[in-house]
Amino acid sequence: MTKVDHLRISGQLPSPKGVALAIMEITRRDDATLDELARAVQSDPALASRLLRLANAAARASGRPVASVNEAVLRLGMATVRQLAIGFSLVDQYRDGACAAFDYPGFWSHSLFMAVASQELGRMVRVGSPEDLFACGLLAQIGRLALITAYPVDYAALLERQDGGVVLIELERQHLGTDRRELTAVIMADCGIPTALAEPVSHHDDPDASGFSEGSRPYQLAHLFFQARRMADLGLSPATERYGSISELMRLGSKIGLDASALGEVFDRVVAQWHEWAEVLKVPAGDLPSFEAMAEAPASRPGHESKAARTRTRVLLVEDDSTTRMMTEEVLSRILGCTVHVAENGRDALPLALEVTPQIVITDWLMPVMDGIELCSALRATDWGQSMYVIMLAGEETEEKIIEAFEAGVDDYLIKPVNVRALTARMRAAQHYVKLLEAWEGDRAQLKAFATELATSNRRLEHAAMTDLLTDLPNRRAGMEALTRFWSASLRTGQPVAALMIDIDFFKAINDRHGHAVGDRVLQEVAKAIQAAARKDDSVSRLGGEEFLLVCHNADPRSGLLAAERLRKMVKALKIGIGGVDIQTTVSIGVANRASCIENEDDLLKAADKALYAAKNAGRDRVCLFANGKTHCA
Ligand code: GH3
Ligand code: MG
Ligand code: MG
Ligand code: MG
Repeated sequence: MTKVDHLRISGQLPSPKGVALAIMEITRRDDATLDELARAVQSDPALASRLLRLANAAARASGRPVASVNEAVLRLGMATVRQLAIGFSLVDQYRDGACAAFDYPGFWSHSLFMAVASQELGRMVRVGSPEDLFACGLLAQIGRLALITAYPVDYAALLERQDGGVVLIELERQHLGTDRRELTAVIMADCGIPTALAEPVSHHDDPDASGFSEGSRPYQLAHLFFQARRMADLGLSPATERYGSISELMRLGSKIGLDASALGEVFDRVVAQWHEWAEVLKVPAGDLPSFEAMAEAPASRPGHESKAARTRTRVLLVEDDSTTRMMTEEVLSRILGCTVHVAENGRDALPLALEVTPQIVITDWLMPVMDGIELCSALRATDWGQSMYVIMLAGEETEEKIIEAFEAGVDDYLIKPVNVRALTARMRAAQHYVKLLEAWEGDRAQLKAFATELATSNRRLEHAAMTDLLTDLPNRRAGMEALTRFWSASLRTGQPVAALMIDIDFFKAINDRHGHAVGDRVLQEVAKAIQAAARKDDSVSRLGGEEFLLVCHNADPRSGLLAAERLRKMVKALKIGIGGVDIQTTVSIGVANRASCIENEDDLLKAADKALYAAKNAGRDRVCLFANGKTHCA
């Protein structure tokens, strides 16, 4: 018996009680009715009101509120009601537990955030029903709760050994014989969450390692859950750590097609709903600033942060007087913790500046060979020297001379002899500038990378959403959009338009005789033939199965028929060589045109379909036309 079976049989896995259990039983039966389910829900007022809330959130778009439990159950569907009832029941039962080291309320607060985030992200990218995604988010980490419930002492010991309370999956396996991922999968299956959703959930902590092919539904789902997870992490992280998570979230958002502003809107909506739900489920939820405010939080000023966090500032000190040079260097490196490079005049300083790229240059004014003003002008004339912060050391200079120095590009000046307090104050300003500059450059680089990534991933998503994977033709959705465009253009210009519905004859027999893989090859070859027969600006798409649609601009019934006939002959002549045999096939084609009895593009499609049906009935391998309410076969 596996560890998991053992846990399940001995009743040590988190499992629902009361009404949720009854609901589980009802939905397991084949003859269960929605009425029966609604009655069970009604017997638990808290559950009823929670389901009503979710159903209403879903109904927001249609604008009509859901008032009764029956309607809520009808709208959510049996499977979803079951998942939610179980999820809520677990929240109620495991608000607290035997392990003192585990933060139960914090766990649920995080899970709830992830639930709402999954739901809202799902609403935007449309990869699943938002309510199902809510249930998945709520249970995505239930394996951790299962471990803590089954092994309160051993797991607590593991938690204590680990930094930040995160235990490695490998450690869980090693010490407990199972891990949170496995247990999450088991519990999700018990809740009736379909594998199509549960699998992406189980890969949500490292979606790129999942092996799902890019752009596929599981791939998108795993990224969606990962993103929801990181949003929840951000929602529950301390204020000092938030700024860093934001840019990561933006990068992730781009992977599921959300730009920064769309992401900010979702995030704020998620936080609002998280608070509402937290009240309903009696789970804590902390206050959060808006996403925009978090994204704009300024980098903290130097001097207010810990010494360890500050990286050493690189300073180039240029001074011909050895006493001043040594004293200043001492202050800079010992007291202010900078890395200091020194030169005795401007001419030596220039190549050194290029080599060490100091963030701050402190230069004397009067020096042999090349003085401070010349050095400053020379630096400002280069790309790399423009952003250095230059402080000029001045003797008893007149105001006029100081102005001259600023005109040469210095940022600040300091009167000699240099004293520690004045130098420290000037350096604080300089370091603040350096910090801001770096943050800005970092943001700019990140923004550029982000924009590029966003653009390519949007293009990929767009392509994936509109393309049939097998034939590389536009898919049904793209085909329907093209049909609508062609129809509108035809109305506008008064030119005719023709729709050709094409279906391979006895295709099932090819599959049966040669196998599915050969069937796929035939589909690809026929797709190519149709594409080749079509004119450049006609629209070809795969509607599904072995059915294709060709829409032709400016084609009256006669030219529609001619095109169809040409295509039929082309396919018939195809010899598809596979494994030494030539497979031949034929198609039947139904043709229809825009005419007075056809009101819209849907009717046009139906008419072509009728003609296709007639072609099949008349013996296949032929073309039929729908005109004047009747089908005509050649
Ligand atoms: P008819 O002449 O009446 O159109 O007969 P048919 O066999 O072509 O039509 P039917 O609708 O009975 O069968 C269509 C078959 O197409 C059944 C289905 O398994 C197969 N099919 C659908 N999609 C694919 C696919 O992507 N690849 C393969 N190999 N077969 C597919
Ligand atoms: Mg000097
Ligand atoms: Mg067929
Ligand atoms: Mg068919």
